[in-house]
Amino acid sequence: MTANLACPADEEALTGILDERQGSVVLKEAGGASGAKGVECGKASVSGAVSQRACVFCGARVVLNPITDAFHLVHGPIGCASYTWDIRGSLSSGPELYRRSFSTDLGEKDVVFGGLPKLRRAVDEIWEKHRPPVVFIYSTCIVGVIGDDVDSVCREAEAAFPGLRVINVKAPGFAGHKAMGYRLACEALMSLISREPPEAPARAGVNILGDFNLAGEMWIIRGYLERIGIPVVSAFTGDSTCASLKKAPSAALNVVQCAGSMQHLARSMEERFGIPYVKASFFGLEDTASALSRIADLAGDGAARLKARSLARSARGKAERELAPYLPGLAGKKAAIFVGGGFKAISLIRQFNALGMDTVLVGTQTGQREDYEIIETLVKPGTVILDDANPSELETFMREKGADILVGGVKERPLAYKLGIAFCDHNHERKVPLAGFDGVINFTREINLSINSPVWRRVRGAGDPFAAPA
Ligand code: SF4
Repeated sequence: MTANLACPADEEALTGILDERQGSVVLKEAGGASGAKGVECGKASVSGAVSQRACVFCGARVVLNPITDAFHLVHGPIGCASYTWDIRGSLSSGPELYRRSFSTDLGEKDVVFGGLPKLRRAVDEIWEKHRPPVVFIYSTCIVGVIGDDVDSVCREAEAAFPGLRVINVKAPGFAGHKAMGYRLACEALMSLISREPPEAPARAGVNILGDFNLAGEMWIIRGYLERIGIPVVSAFTGDSTCASLKKAPSAALNVVQCAGSMQHLARSMEERFGIPYVKASFFGLEDTASALSRIADLAGDGAARLKARSLARSARGKAERELAPYLPGLAGKKAAIFVGGGFKAISLIRQFNALGMDTVLVGTQTGQREDYEIIETLVKPGTVILDDANPSELETFMREKGADILVGGVKERPLAYKLGIAFCDHNHERKVPLAGFDGVINFTREINLSINSPVWRRVRGAGDPFAAPA
């Protein structure tokens, strides 16, 4: 399925790419170009390329942080603790402990003599003041270098404080990239739910894996499933608690939304508890309707199937009527996408196609080969597809392709604004829900407001859309 991709070394060359990055940046071609190998992905970032990817620790933290009653303790220098709730604005219907940031704040003396005494004092203080059900200790870069025996502190604390789980998330930034952090988070979650699983699980309802309740999106998905009669047993990890996660082994099906972060957990739960999983996306009208139908087919009865199709038909029809006035102002506009995972990129391309827009550049931080193969089938010839991009590549290809809007996260926002093009935040910091049928309306409004704002004409000047202002 990779026959229509050309590497930049081929005849129609893309410029401005480091030699080591050539295989990770490809151009969708019109014909069947022979010899194309698809997008190289899943590799370590190239040193000096200034990757947009986050580190291993960040990958683990963004997955675990939404557990609202957990204590998240960063064992490392204070700088690592800058990854806080602010960059992962997941909402809670209960506890608020997860919104605070805690660090052992290792200094020079700790690096020389070891950080364990400080870590022990921190865990004692946590138990004394907060009594959480679980503490995640994130061991970051310097701890990986000095070799603190964090596991021993976890064992001692669990022995001393009955009922407390203390889980070491060994996440030095240099151990890989963000996807490795996702895997570590999945292993921490498996450790949490496996210790005392229900003896005879009821096998009903579903778990949602890979939704983090950004701007309340988990509540939207949960609402749809409840309306069609399918209960959500556990949510990984948006608006979850330690107790709610421990119920997960009793579900009949795992629904994996963010496959990049949660497929490892889904596979582990299938192996350990026999729970099958299905990938489903709640971004976009088509994907939301399809997700509801497939979940009802796999986890519901006849009534659930009928309700799923009825809900999808009515909510989709209502959304399409609300979207109609925006279509003339968006037709033919060009979108660039750079997001964390491949599944979200795929849903975004479908949404842009439905709005009559063209995706001219698409890339991800942690996309997998099968994601890129689907992406290739959805975009038009001439689209640049790239894995693990850096700001220079994004700038070069957005200029070359004349992108009108960039969809990305906090690290991409300044780049778009400096280039004078519109931006839509589809990452952890968003404040408006973009999931489900209503989410598509919010998304389209935001795209329209940003792309058709008069500010870009003033910033970019007339003629060449990327010319410096007069
Ligand atoms: S790369 Fe290392 S030092 Fe930097 S934030 Fe990640 S874990 Fe901390």
